[in-house]
Amino acid sequence: MKEINLNQMDISHIVKEKYKSEIIKKWLYFGYEFSEITSISKESREQLIAEFEFPMKIEKVFVSKDGTKKYLLKAKEDLIECVVMTHNHGKTICISTQVGCRMGCTFCSSGIDGLERNLTATEMYMEVALINKDLGGDFKNRKITNIVLMGSGEPLDNFENVVEFLEMISSERGLNISRRNISLSTSGIADKIREFANLNLGTTLTISLHNPFQEEREKIMPIAKKFKIDELINEARHYFLQTGRRVIFEYTLIQGENDSDRHIDELKKIIKGFPAHINVILLNKVDGKSYLPSQKGVGEKFVDKLEDVGISASLRKEKGSDIEGACGQLKRRYQVGKI
Ligand code: SAH
Ligand code: SF4
Repeated sequence: MKEINLNQMDISHIVKEKYKSEIIKKWLYFGYEFSEITSISKESREQLIAEFEFPMKIEKVFVSKDGTKKYLLKAKEDLIECVVMTHNHGKTICISTQVGCRMGCTFCSSGIDGLERNLTATEMYMEVALINKDLGGDFKNRKITNIVLMGSGEPLDNFENVVEFLEMISSERGLNISRRNISLSTSGIADKIREFANLNLGTTLTISLHNPFQEEREKIMPIAKKFKIDELINEARHYFLQTGRRVIFEYTLIQGENDSDRHIDELKKIIKGFPAHINVILLNKVDGKSYLPSQKGVGEKFVDKLEDVGISASLRKEKGSDIEGACGQLKRRYQVGKI
């Protein structure tokens, strides 16, 4: 069985007319399987099914009390986790870019087993297309409005496929989601941030900072030993100058680790001179790890204090925490039969 690459799929031996092959690709771009493509002959459908392996299917859907939906998708033998959150302005999907992750951040469940493999651009595309369709989207009416690359995996460790995905998803041939509505989150691979900035794709960049002190950051994020905080700040400044997009810093509050006034003072010192925003969230407790989220009310106070010292900040509301908050956890629990 052949793997599908939506960008370079040759089906001219099955359907001779170019317009028919475009029709088939259009259906694929909107998340339809071959068996669902009703506008071609039964014979062509059967040939396509016999020759190509459809990249992904929905394995299971979990719905939270607040309406957040979590999807477990299956690609080859791998389970992939996605989350859909509903906001006033639309629906945001959080997608995965790798199976596992090799960055090994100590508070994260995605990296526990290391990196298993990179996802292809078509697989990342299908995460969005399958879920958009499941939410009732069709050729005329798209349900997903925003995308964040914040599921499992480090996007800049799968650079070429991620860039190909960003081009595919914003193309008029497919779902056509503006790259301005897409946010790429990185643990801080400085040289790749530079490469990404220079492509000027118009995407929002989010840097997972989590601690403004070099030594403390190294303890929770091994990649910090290689790329230092001052380099990241420099890259954030360059990203803004190059793209005109304000950089977002992700800051996950972990009790007793990064939630004190000392951290606020240091954040003020390092983030200045260019437009930035800090997205504060509370840690999602991970099975088998001792870290705890900061206590109730600390998140609100932390944001107020940041605003007081002149840093734009907001607290991201936890969504869907009753159905396994942190990315990577849903998959782990499903695999061991806990859910
Ligand atoms: N690898 C990229 C993107 C995926 S992780 C990155 O690290 O940025 C997306 C975000 O979730 C990151 O900011 C990450 O630090 C955060 N995160 C990971 N585990 C978490 C947890 N248990 N609770 C809260 N946030 C977590
Ligand atoms: Fe990988 Fe991001 Fe998790 Fe770190 S936080 S292990 S970079 S997915």
